[in-house]
Amino acid sequence: MRRLPVILFLFFVFVSIALFPAGASGNYRNFKVSVYARVYEVIRMDDLNWLEPRWNELSRQVKVDKIYLETHRDMKVAGKETIEKLKRFFQDRGVAVAGGITATVNEMNRFETFCYTNPEHRKKLKDVVEYTAGLFDEIIFDDFFFTNCKCESCIRAKGDRTWTRFRLDLLDQAARELIIQPARAVNPKVKLVIKYPNWYEHFQGLGFNLETEPKIFDGIYTGTETRDRTWDQHLQEYLGYSIFRYFENIKPGGNGGGWVDTAGSTFLDRYAEQLWLTLFAKAPEITLFDFAQLQRQIRPTDRAPWQGQQTSFDFDKMMQPVPQPDGSPVKPSTIARAAAVTFDQVDAFLGNLGRPVGLKSYKPYHSTGEDFLHTYLGMIGIPIDLVPDFPVDASTVLLTECAAFDPQITGKIKKQLSDGKSVVITSGLLQALQGKGIEDIAEIRATGRKAILKGFRGQDALPLDLRILIPEIQYLTNDAWELVSGITQNDLGYPLLLQAGYAKGSLYVLTIPDNFSDLYSFPAPVLTQIRNVLLRDFFVRVESPEDVSLFVYDNNTFIVESFLPGSVDVRISLDSKHGRIRDLITGEELAAQPGAKTLGFGGFGGGGGNRSVCPVQIKPHSYRVFSVVQ
Ligand SMILES: [Zn+2]
Repeated sequence: MRRLPVILFLFFVFVSIALFPAGASGNYRNFKVSVYARVYEVIRMDDLNWLEPRWNELSRQVKVDKIYLETHRDMKVAGKETIEKLKRFFQDRGVAVAGGITATVNEMNRFETFCYTNPEHRKKLKDVVEYTAGLFDEIIFDDFFFTNCKCESCIRAKGDRTWTRFRLDLLDQAARELIIQPARAVNPKVKLVIKYPNWYEHFQGLGFNLETEPKIFDGIYTGTETRDRTWDQHLQEYLGYSIFRYFENIKPGGNGGGWVDTAGSTFLDRYAEQLWLTLFAKAPEITLFDFAQLQRQIRPTDRAPWQGQQTSFDFDKMMQPVPQPDGSPVKPSTIARAAAVTFDQVDAFLGNLGRPVGLKSYKPYHSTGEDFLHTYLGMIGIPIDLVPDFPVDASTVLLTECAAFDPQITGKIKKQLSDGKSVVITSGLLQALQGKGIEDIAEIRATGRKAILKGFRGQDALPLDLRILIPEIQYLTNDAWELVSGITQNDLGYPLLLQAGYAKGSLYVLTIPDNFSDLYSFPAPVLTQIRNVLLRDFFVRVESPEDVSLFVYDNNTFIVESFLPGSVDVRISLDSKHGRIRDLITGEELAAQPGAKTLGFGGFGGGGGNRSVCPVQIKPHSYRVFSVVQ
């Protein structure tokens, strides 16, 4: 008789472990949510009468697993008693705590960072690190562990080196001497995480070292915020997804999460998009920056003009009162509510998606060239998987200008082609490799001349006020073939996609317009031709205009997302063996048209070929999630 309760107890332990595996908190099933509090708010939180109503307002909207309490920013430090009090406050509410450090002297002065040749600044950072390591077992370093200092002392220390080399070395050394060693000396079990911002193309110039830091820090973290692309960073929406995957490829299993702030979005849809793109990339955690910004009231102007059509982010539905555990309805008030509805929505299907996959594209460490081009390609339906090492196993590799930073790159291209694989290079890379052995594969030249396109072969002319400037690529007739062509004013054709054979493989040259965003003005059939070649190995592709992205997973699931302000018709092109797809949100099943002729060019260069096609509609700024029905 006395044994039964023990057996029952063990049974319940077993069931709870099965239902709530280690690491899952029971809030959201597929990811954790953290909130970051800057030192300014941490200091104010010392007054619990200030903190409590604000925390209640936030936490009854978003289920929060962890809070980062910042100890330093802008030379301001939060006191030990305050931190200890706040640790108790949050832990009592079931919320994990971690520390945060921002290495700025004055963020408001154009992001003034520490000067790492200044002994006082170095001592300050080391002191802050030691102090924080004594308070927390996990510390994250927000965005600013780089340097933009060009004081006399830094100019002298730089000597003959480039700024990039000088700062890479300086910050690598600072990471070891001012962060890793002192933190471990105080707290041997402390987990040190470096969070990187969104401007990865330019990191090396400011000393962010993606080659060495991910190896010496316990974890990395990703800024996935892109805001509106008209803003001064000019980031494409797709970056919010691809940057997380890129950093995950740099430190597999060590990219702790994605990080989004609330700034720079004209409409609330853009905020929600940044959150769900982070989750589409399978970030295990998402951090909401920050405690203060999350108090921001929802305004009527946050409602986008395309609302009212049951879009993925439904503003009016979000504003419905939320029933509380005690039954009382609460009217949504702050931007945190937009995060909450997004998390609930994505959590419902995220577990059905496998591992994200994309067209492998090699970006050597500390490289630049055709800056952020990959994210523009993501906006025209080409799923991108950025990798820091040359992907020898990929049957198709995409190489942009930044690949020229690898001195062995032409040899690696040749090897792929000799192995019967495909390599796509951009016109920017072609130009960079000219005279460095690329002509040994095919005598294709970037002439330095330009052409102005009025349209494309086989397509209606562009509107009269729209012209596209491209570099003129020259090739030897019958050594290379033109698969896609642009047309100039006097009906002269220019190559946009070339194919040249080498051994058993194919080299493709993709012409990139001088203004990358002119890719968005390519008509849908032209984009489809390009996708058919670049994505020839993919079980799914989209046939659509610009600003429609495709996210592909390794278990026959995929997401199609539109960033357009109006509804768009998209043809989903599948391997002909696939006949049906299921919408994983609505459950609706759709039959593909077998053997339907695709809009691609079919035979030459491969890729168009025999596909099943499924027409779907995507609402403005919305996504649909599908699974192939086996
Ligand atoms: Zn300096």
